[in-house]
Amino acid sequence: MNNISIWKDTSERTYYKKLDKDIDIDVLIIGGGITGVSTLYHLKDSKPKVALVEQNKIAYSTTGNSTGKLTYLQNDLLDKIRKSVGDKKSFSYISFEIEGMNRMVKLINDKKFDCDLTCVDSYLYTNKESEVDKLKDLSKFLNNRSIVTKEEECNLIESKYMIGVENTYMINPIKFVNCLIKDNKYPIYENTSIIKIEKEYDKYISYTKNNKIISKWIVIASHYPYFIKPMFFPIKVSLEKSYLSASKKKIDDISLISYSNPFISIRTYKDYLIYLSNSHALNKDIDDKHNFNELLKKVSDLKLKTSFLWSNIDIMTVDGMPYIGKIKDNMLIGTGYNTWGLINGFMAGVILSDIIKNKDNKYIDLFNPNRFSVKSIPKYISNTFKNVDGYIKGFKSNVDIDYKEGKKVLNVDNHTVLKKCPHIGCGLKYNEIEKTWDCPCHGSRFSIDGKCISGPANKDISISSKKM
Ligand SMILES: Cc1cc2nc3c(=O)[nH]c(=O)nc-3n(C[C@H](O)[C@H](O)[C@H](O)COP(=O)(O)OP(=O)(O)OC[C@H]3O[C@@H](n4cnc5c(N)ncnc54)[C@H](O)[C@@H]3O)c2cc1C
Repeated sequence: MNNISIWKDTSERTYYKKLDKDIDIDVLIIGGGITGVSTLYHLKDSKPKVALVEQNKIAYSTTGNSTGKLTYLQNDLLDKIRKSVGDKKSFSYISFEIEGMNRMVKLINDKKFDCDLTCVDSYLYTNKESEVDKLKDLSKFLNNRSIVTKEEECNLIESKYMIGVENTYMINPIKFVNCLIKDNKYPIYENTSIIKIEKEYDKYISYTKNNKIISKWIVIASHYPYFIKPMFFPIKVSLEKSYLSASKKKIDDISLISYSNPFISIRTYKDYLIYLSNSHALNKDIDDKHNFNELLKKVSDLKLKTSFLWSNIDIMTVDGMPYIGKIKDNMLIGTGYNTWGLINGFMAGVILSDIIKNKDNKYIDLFNPNRFSVKSIPKYISNTFKNVDGYIKGFKSNVDIDYKEGKKVLNVDNHTVLKKCPHIGCGLKYNEIEKTWDCPCHGSRFSIDGKCISGPANKDISISSKKM
């Protein structure tokens, strides 16, 4: 079995060199997931000098671990948005999703992107009696706005009620990002982590370990920002982790998801069935092995043998809407996609590049990252408690603690790493299925030998590879 996402196994990789000199440019994009690469793509015909830096590998973090669905039937997210911002803005959100999906599909077709685009009906189901009316109401909300839904049935899962929409899509997300980058003319640097940003007059100076980048604009496309001060980010978001598998099974193409937790999400990819389950808030003290075992049990109940196994973490905002736009001066951000970041990340690239090009965009106010909502105060408070709770739980490790050079360290298979995450010092846990060190507070991940593979941490934790 491969303990990596199916997309990493089925996509070719272009290698980009590490930054090895100081550079002076107009726009620095930090992060090479869908948000960063889409911003780069949409700046391609403009004058500014642009560069993108990626701490690890292009599209190998959240984007390359997703399920690759492009749909606007997104579990209970629309209902969450309706509750927090009302029906008018919720309809703007849905219009944005449909516009974004159609824009991506047109681009894929026009440019003949080879990213395994598949047109499919999307289904949303519940197996709880108490949610049937909620689904009917959601369907009515969409129908009243000329979005056609139909009642459905499916023999793959048990359901009390199910609705579907036609003409939604599925892609291989890594192949899609690689296609976006194909004709790119700007420099891209992999294995290049930004560790600090300073402002000097009207320019930003971003520091890597050995170099600096001077730029007029900065686009933070790093998923969870590695700095925590601006925007009060930790209280405005929480993190959700899910577990995924891909097993050989040739069935008609399908894309379905449950309305609420416990989430089940299913899609086909060629002759594989991808199955997602066991979603939980990141700081819940549930070990990964338990979650992977539960997932494997569910998959084996469907009489499937798993070929790929992986997990993924995304950022949930208090009102369900993404944060896309200007944080301050010429610093922009695109994040907080509530597990629906392929369309949102792609469209963030459109919005952020329009801001840089001084072009109007009708969605700029909708996703303002500095918005504050009185209705969300209970959620801000609960997120604050979750952060403290995660930090305290982070002190317990699932691996024996040792000491080296006066520092607390952890040791697995001859690899010794620091016990604390370099982000804000939460204790790391070993994920023995994917062979990574994971931070239970904000989702940073490190390879077994301590290399940072996803933020917000931006430094490695390796000490040595020798057995102590
Ligand atoms: C289980 C799961 C399934 C999902 N399935 C879907 C789906 O089917 N459809 C959908 O639309 N969405 C899905 N999503 C959501 C989607 O995957 C994400 O919202 C989206 O990929 C986020 O993209 P991003 O570019 O913001 O982040 P990322 O893809 O994480 O990219 C950010 C990049 O920034 C880099 N970085 C971080 N810090 C630094 C630094 N200091 N210096 C340089 N680089 C840095 C990281 O290494 C990373 O590569 C899913 C999410 C989860 C958790």
